[in-house]
Amino acid sequence: MAMNSQGRPTHPGIAATAEVKTFSGHRGLDHEEALIFENESFVKTGVDLPEPKAIKARLGGLERMASIGLPGLTEPETMRHYVRLSRKNYAIDSGLYPLGSCTMKHNPRLNEKMARLPGFADIHPLQPERTVQGALMLMEALGGYLMELTGMAAVAMSPKAGAHGELCGMLAIKAAHDAKGSKRNVVLVPDSAHGTNPATAAFMGYTVRSIPAKADGTVGVADVTAALGPDVAAIMLTNPNTCGLFEPDVVEIARAVHEAGAYFYCDGANFNAIVGKVRPGDLGVDAMHINLHKTFSTPHGGGGPGSGPVVLSAALAPFAPLPFVAKEGAAYRLIEQVADAQGAQPFGRLTAFHGQMGMFVRALTYMLSHGSDGMRQASDDAVLSANYIRASLRDLFTQPFGDKACMHEVLFDDAWLKETGVTTLDFAKAMIDEGYHPMTMYFPLVVHGAMLIEPTESESKASLDQFIATLRALAMAAKAGDVERFKQAPILAPRRRLDETKAAREPKLVWKEPVQKVAAE
Ligand SMILES: *Cc1c(COP(=O)(O)O)cnc(C)c1O
Repeated sequence: MAMNSQGRPTHPGIAATAEVKTFSGHRGLDHEEALIFENESFVKTGVDLPEPKAIKARLGGLERMASIGLPGLTEPETMRHYVRLSRKNYAIDSGLYPLGSCTMKHNPRLNEKMARLPGFADIHPLQPERTVQGALMLMEALGGYLMELTGMAAVAMSPKAGAHGELCGMLAIKAAHDAKGSKRNVVLVPDSAHGTNPATAAFMGYTVRSIPAKADGTVGVADVTAALGPDVAAIMLTNPNTCGLFEPDVVEIARAVHEAGAYFYCDGANFNAIVGKVRPGDLGVDAMHINLHKTFSTPHGGGGPGSGPVVLSAALAPFAPLPFVAKEGAAYRLIEQVADAQGAQPFGRLTAFHGQMGMFVRALTYMLSHGSDGMRQASDDAVLSANYIRASLRDLFTQPFGDKACMHEVLFDDAWLKETGVTTLDFAKAMIDEGYHPMTMYFPLVVHGAMLIEPTESESKASLDQFIATLRALAMAAKAGDVERFKQAPILAPRRRLDETKAAREPKLVWKEPVQKVAAE
């Protein structure tokens, strides 16, 4: 009988669980769930309203003639549909979520409580300013802490995610060049960058010039200098970088970039590693987005919208977008028009309103409840957790850039899987059977078969130990030649392995009404 790590028996040994077929299609208490349109009758309605008395139509013959075409669900049916779906969703609230570069940390419940305060939750962006002074004050306070933590001169609060923040920062950079009459059409992006960096540059019409990574996984000054020229508008550099390493030459790179008349955009998605330790402004950064939904614990993924404020250096501050909060005497104002911008030259407006208010409340709550020492310790612990995993696996897994300390995430490659017949993808699928969301795979692209693991500071030592023990057990199985286990995985998930190539090549984009199932005789 199989035993779990506490020595208690696990399932009673049905070897091929995947082969068990049930009549209902459900697997234990885990229900198969059809699309909301597929189960229910379209003629039924969920509410019981009396037929309206004969009324004189005033729509001039424009009344709807056909059925409204919405599924007819009762309240309990609706509830069950969404609860069952939610149970298929893996979340930070259900287990360790080691997705590198995503900083899947715990979202403290205190944040949720604060975000639900009616004074924040029930206000509207079009309310008169004097009725939302507290909300504006909160935005000002959060922006102030972001500038303090990064050592930067200004902040744009409205971008709604990291990628949106990149666009904001790059638009500020473009506006600064335009103001000087400098025409530049190239942006430097290292090979190891997140895909959003070259995408942002290309979206704005820039040509992307890639910078190769050095053998140690970092970006070299010489490579940057060689790529610089009068046509270069900016560099987009991630620090700590996507290999989980701090860029040691970042100050020199910034200097070279500035000497060439270009600006330094820093992708700040990995800020969680250095909060309270390093101020990006001191490194020469001109613009950096901060993913509140990563570093400052606001929910993301299926859990909620992102928020990507951008901090700006003094050189770029005048070009920050509208709207922004200004304090006049004791009152707060939201500056909405260029004419009110006190001589600044905003590049324009990114969003209809001011950004993700609920996320601002959560992020500020996180900051105030941690304090400066707590935020610094969170970074310390995030780095410690990643290195604990690194040190516990380094005898089995291979590290592409040698055995050296990492920041908040540890990067392995697939050299150690060579000749086992198991790939990074197979390994990740086997992790699902073991109850773990896979790590980030095949990113960054500069590393073959990359496995990027970011545990964050939220995990206890016991949780890390169990994760490590599981990965070690899987690694031993791979090395022992148990290829089938990996090729078949996931066996225990609601869906087996999908044909991803076919899904990409022949996507089915149209929902078709299913053939009605006839009840069994
Ligand atoms: C997450 C991430 C982004 C993009 O942020 P979103 O909020 O997902 O748009 C950009 N760069 C890096 C390195 C990231 O990890």
